[in-house]
Amino acid sequence: MSAKASLRLADTEAATEREVRVELAACYRIFDLLGWTELIFNHITAKVPGPEEHFLINPFGLHYSEITASNLVKIDLDGNVIGDSEWSVNLAGFVIHSAIHRARSDVHCITHTHTTTGMAVACLEAGLTQTNFYSAMMHDSVAYHDFEGITTRPEECDRLVASLGGKDLLILRNHGLLTCGPTIAEAFTNHYRLQRACDVQIATAAAAPASGGGIIPVSEAAARYSTEKRGLVGMGESDADAHVSAQSFNALKRLIDRKDPSYRD
Ligand SMILES: [Zn+2]
Repeated sequence: MSAKASLRLADTEAATEREVRVELAACYRIFDLLGWTELIFNHITAKVPGPEEHFLINPFGLHYSEITASNLVKIDLDGNVIGDSEWSVNLAGFVIHSAIHRARSDVHCITHTHTTTGMAVACLEAGLTQTNFYSAMMHDSVAYHDFEGITTRPEECDRLVASLGGKDLLILRNHGLLTCGPTIAEAFTNHYRLQRACDVQIATAAAAPASGGGIIPVSEAAARYSTEKRGLVGMGESDADAHVSAQSFNALKRLIDRKDPSYRD
């Protein structure tokens, strides 16, 4: 599959619901492959093609490894199930996603995780520090939202949307990571970079005391340059970051196709 084909899958003008279902189910399986799961919790949501504000979400009760194109549940912005489904959804968990989908028409996919290093960085006053290769690619790109308890109250939505603003990366303090994207592949790549930056930051902090030295900061100039050029490795297209995201996502999709293609069911 070409990068362009993958990009089109999450485009509400060109993709079919079936194509988005397969792409999103693949994303759930990729998150499982990478260990980014939390029992039956957390969500990855994607907009269904068409004028309606409908979204696909994981059925509540299944592990990410059990998600398939057909068992994804279609819901509206209030969490009502659209069409027939034998599954319900975790409405409490959807509060965050619905608030962002409602406010940001440019966002077609939202991912959210409770990984250990993601949560650890979310618990630090300093948040994500500018100290490694991956954080350098997210200069001035990360938003923060203070913890108000488990996110089940609609009244928190306006504050959460204001915290995110126009950014695509959100660290939910004391809680976890959330990323957005105009395609499933770009939301995934945003999450990958943020997760890797957290992994390296926590590993660096653990290693530093025994090393006898401090942690080397990345200069603002280096970070700004890395963020501007992050998609241009080996190419020069204007949509290079989208292209690299699609290529990366497709590579992992081929990997899970070789392991277990049942996500396509
Ligand atoms: Zn959460």
